[in-house]
Parts: sequence; structure tokens; C-alpha cells
Amino acid sequence: MWFGREENKNSNEISPIFFKVLSELGQDALLVAPGEVVRFATEGIETLNILRENRIMSPELVALIRVVRRTQQTHTGNIEVPRGPIGEGLRELTIRAIYLSEIENIVVLISDESEASRVHEVRRDFVANISHELKTPIGALSLLSEAVLSASDDPASVVKFATRMQLEAKRLTDLVQGIINLSRLQDSDPLQIATEHLIADLVNEAVDLVKTTSDAKGIQVTVNEFPSVVVLGDGEQLIMAIHNLLENAINYSPQNTNVSVSTSLADEIVEIIVTDQGIGIAEGELERIFERFYRVDPARSRETGGTGLGLSIVKHVASKHGGEVRVWSSPKVGSSFAIRLPIYSTHGGNE
Ligand code: ADP
Repeated sequence: MWFGREENKNSNEISPIFFKVLSELGQDALLVAPGEVVRFATEGIETLNILRENRIMSPELVALIRVVRRTQQTHTGNIEVPRGPIGEGLRELTIRAIYLSEIENIVVLISDESEASRVHEVRRDFVANISHELKTPIGALSLLSEAVLSASDDPASVVKFATRMQLEAKRLTDLVQGIINLSRLQDSDPLQIATEHLIADLVNEAVDLVKTTSDAKGIQVTVNEFPSVVVLGDGEQLIMAIHNLLENAINYSPQNTNVSVSTSLADEIVEIIVTDQGIGIAEGELERIFERFYRVDPARSRETGGTGLGLSIVKHVASKHGGEVRVWSSPKVGSSFAIRLPIYSTHGGNE
């Protein structure tokens, strides 16, 4: 987008081509003439919500430009602009304003720092969460060991405390394993070492892994017939993702209910759908359940040995394989989770 007039063109001036190059490099920029008139702007700058009809909307940005004009020196600063006309969302922009004395104009380079600060925030929260999550079972183990010591002459109490110690130790192991799985996922690219997998094989392996738990609860896991669809990826990760969905379906369902696994095909995408007749999830929670360590009901999740990491692992696996996860749920009715993956071929070995 540029607002310069052809007759203003002069070999000393910054040309639209310069702005085109900046656009191509992904750098948002403005060229501002005296009176804060915007002469050029890179493509797509509208999304930053700082310009309207050629005028700068942000008072902070106008103030920064005025300082640069007055001092005739480059200045750098951060400004916050609303993401849109409604809502409280803000975008954090880093601004570098450069005075071009030859043409008395100012080039404003704009970088959107929101994504970087979001990643930073997520990382900081993750570290804080890990410490908290690990401290709980470690604290419990320490208390229980004290209880065992002081009850050493009462065998019944020793058995009781030792059993609880085993549970806490298992929780700690699951947590550490979950954290390791997540960090492995974040570091690796499964598509670089991808192999071909029949959907049916992945599902059957995952179902085998939950057999003991489902039998113990009298839950029947029904596997519907699968088309011969092959996906490309890391088999271990894909099985882990389907396994996590099945584990949740069993954990959050009453005894003697049904869990089913089915597939659907559409537009080069295969969906592996795990459906349960369980407690369901309220609509307001649906967005948050994929966050690391988030549980709708922490006490219940603890009872079932949940770590709050299962669904974030599923989400990571799906997106690293070029897919996504979807969820439908209704409290007291049940839930369906679908892992959607790109189909590699429909000529599986089972044909
Ligand atoms: P957890 O280890 O606690 O199960 P997840 O990341 O797998 O952690 O799931 C996050 C939360 O989402 C769970 O604590 C639970 O509240 C909710 N949830 C996940 N799957 C289901 C399901 N099939 N039915 C009802 N609630 C579910």
C-alpha cells in the first residue's frame, strides 16, 4: 500500500520499491512526512490497527515520531495498541523511528512482539507449574515417610502409609514421564523421521494399552471398522496420542459404559474419533483443557492419576503431524475427541 503521488517521485526519495522489499522481508514500516502524514506503508499493516485513512491512530506512536523529528535522531520504543475495535486485547509493538534528514521524513520500522512475549509467558508459566506439580507428590512422600517412621510399631498403619507412598511415587513417575514426553515432542519434528502407518494398526495398539483399565471398570471399548488409510509420522507419538484420548474416555466415564473409536474421511483428512458416555465437559472449559496441567476438577483428576498433560500432548502430536484436535462435549452426556491427520495414502497393507 502506498499513498505517495507519482509527481512527488524524485531520485533522492525512498521509493515504493523499498517498501515492497521491506514487505517481502516481513518488516512492517511507514514513511511519515512532516505533519505526521503517512506517505507509504507496507502491505498488510492494517492488521496492526495503527492506521486509519492514512492517519496514525496511536497517540504514543505520534508522540515518538514527534520526538524523532525534534531531535533528528533515531529512537526506539515499545507501544501497546488495541487488537481491534472491541475487547481488551492489546498488541505490543516495538518501534524504531529513523530520521532521514535528506527528505525530512521518518521511516518507522514496526515489529510485533506479542508472539515473542506470549511464548515467553507460556514458558515462564510452564516452569512455575512444573515446580508446583512436582512439589505436591514430593511433599506428600516426605510426610508419608515421616508417618511410616512414627508408626513403625503398628503394622496396619505402616501398610496403609506405604500403599499411599506407592501411589504418590507412581504419580511422580507419570508426571516426570509426561514432562519428558512433552519436551521431546517440542524438540523433535516427527515428519523428518516419518514412517507410514495404517490407522487400524495405530488404533489397535492404543486400545491394547488400555485393556486392563477398561476391563477393570467394565467399560467396553468398541473399535469400528477402519478404511485402509495410511498416515505419515512417528508411530510411537501417534499411538501415545490415541492412548491418551482413550485413557481419558475411560477415566472420565462411569463404570459399565461404552467407549468407541471410529474414523471419518473428508478432504484428504482422516479423523480418529474417540467417543465416551462420560461426565462431559462444560462449554466454558473446552478451550482450556488443552493447556498444560489444566484440569476441570483437579481432585478427580488426581484420583484417576491424571497429570493434566494428556491433552496437551495430544494437541502437540496432532499439530506436529500437520493435523489438529477437535472436541465436542456435553456435561452428563459424554465427549468426542477427534485427532485429524492428513492422509498419506489410501492403499494400506491390509487390502
Ligand atoms: P488429565 O491427566 O487430568 O486427564 P488431560 O490433559 O488429559 O489431563 O485432560 C485435561 C482435563 O480435561 C481433565 O483433567 C478433565 O477434566 C478433562 N477431560 C479430558 N478428557 C475428558 C473426557 N473424555 N471427559 C470428560 N473430561 C475430560
